[in-house]
Amino acid sequence: FQSSQKEAIRVKEELRKEVECLRADLQQVREDRDQSVAQLNTLTAELATYSEQARKSSKDSELLRIKAAAFEETCSSQQEQIETLQKQLAVATEKLKHADVTAIEAMTGYESQKETIKDLEERLAYAEFQIIEADKLRKKLHNTILELKGNIRVFCRVRPFLSDTDSNGQEEAIISYPSSVENAGRGIDLMNQGQKCSFSYDKVFDHSASQDDVFVEMSQLVQSALDGYKVCIFAYGQTGSGKTYTMMGKPGRDQKGIIPRSLEQIFKTSQSLESQGWKYCMQASMLEIYNETIRDLLAPGRSSSEMPGGKQYTIKHDSQGNTTVSDLTTTNVFSTADVTSLLEKASHSRSVGKTQMNEQSSRSHFVFTLKIFGSNESTGQQVQGVLNLIDLAGSERLTKSGATGERLKETQAINKSLSALSDVIFAIAKNDDHVPFRNSKLTYLLQPCLGGDSKTLMFVNVSPEASSAGETLCSLRFASRVNACEIGVARRQTQSKSSSDNSNRLSYG
Ligand code: ADP
Ligand code: MG
Repeated sequence: FQSSQKEAIRVKEELRKEVECLRADLQQVREDRDQSVAQLNTLTAELATYSEQARKSSKDSELLRIKAAAFEETCSSQQEQIETLQKQLAVATEKLKHADVTAIEAMTGYESQKETIKDLEERLAYAEFQIIEADKLRKKLHNTILELKGNIRVFCRVRPFLSDTDSNGQEEAIISYPSSVENAGRGIDLMNQGQKCSFSYDKVFDHSASQDDVFVEMSQLVQSALDGYKVCIFAYGQTGSGKTYTMMGKPGRDQKGIIPRSLEQIFKTSQSLESQGWKYCMQASMLEIYNETIRDLLAPGRSSSEMPGGKQYTIKHDSQGNTTVSDLTTTNVFSTADVTSLLEKASHSRSVGKTQMNEQSSRSHFVFTLKIFGSNESTGQQVQGVLNLIDLAGSERLTKSGATGERLKETQAINKSLSALSDVIFAIAKNDDHVPFRNSKLTYLLQPCLGGDSKTLMFVNVSPEASSAGETLCSLRFASRVNACEIGVARRQTQSKSSSDNSNRLSYG
């Protein structure tokens, strides 16, 4: 028993231990179960969320499928676009290739054009050079022509009948013109006391010649003043024969005389020569020689009471042949308008004298002088020309005017100075050692412009009336003596040689 008891105790102990163990196990199992339940709960919850998510994502995937379909659509349309763009690109590339070719062609074209331009520029430069050379040649040839014609030339101009004298056409024509071809435009016949006298000059203008016809014949002469020559143009003839009309003319386009036309031409030509590098500067002066006394027609504030000779007006020539008159007003002129106002001023001064001094204008010599200074910067040339335009006093002879006293003195002074002028011209023509320049104020004033390489033109103006026949004959005879000056062949040879040398010095030195 004891042993069984012991046994039973031991068993009981074992069992109790076993129970304890089991209890522990149970406890463990319970705990496990609780844990599993808890796990289950969380898993259920998770499942719920997952299934929720699964629903969502199935929605999403639906959306994505739609989107994908849309994308596929876009994609295919873009594919199409790409294809068209590729086609376009191909075309563009083709075009570009073509353009490249054209560009190369253009480039070569441009190159050749550049060549052409260079060529043209060279030719232009050469042409400009030729123009300059041709201009030099022109000056030289013009000079030669004038030398061959004689440096003193004579033009004759016959005034038309003035309306009050030929009103009935009763006046018999004493002037006629030879019809021979040889003398056409150069000859003139005068009937005087039943005798026919024939004359010929470098040019004869009949009564119908306009101011323009006259000027055309002398524009070359005016041009030479710009080329650096000393030029003198005289109007000679009895009072009323048209000297002032020829030189000054009357207001109005067509009636303008040589003086305004010359100035217009000079200003116009000097402007066109500017393109060849020429710059000109001009100085004008105007004076009157009355009874061997110089009067300044441009003197400022010239009053009618002022006595001529109040100032000295001494004439001086320097070694270069430049003339200065002391106290004489010289004015820089820049345009025709400047000169026009000067001419107006001068004619006003003259008319003041006219009333006071008994028609002095026809009893005095009027001298318009334009000094021209030209320089060419590109060629370094310099020229100095002078243009003298002279309206001489009436040439009628002493007996005709039948004057006494003051008038006699006047007429003597005029005759003396006109004969001094002819003496000078004839002495130059004969190549005399002594030329009597100092015998009158007029010849002394014009000394450098009457000899050497200067160019002189004498206008002999004549009246057509029978009552003037005697004076007309005198004028024509005087003119043909002057005209004869150029015929001296020996003189012309030596003169032409020296004058061409001079011309070289003047124009191209
Ligand atoms: P001068 O100056 O020689 O004394 P003018 O020039 O004063 O002579 O001329 C005298 C008149 O004759 C003036 O009225 C002038 O207008 C006129 N006359 C002169 N020549 C011509 C001509 N070629 N045509 C028209 N009228 C002229
Ligand atoms: Mg006059």
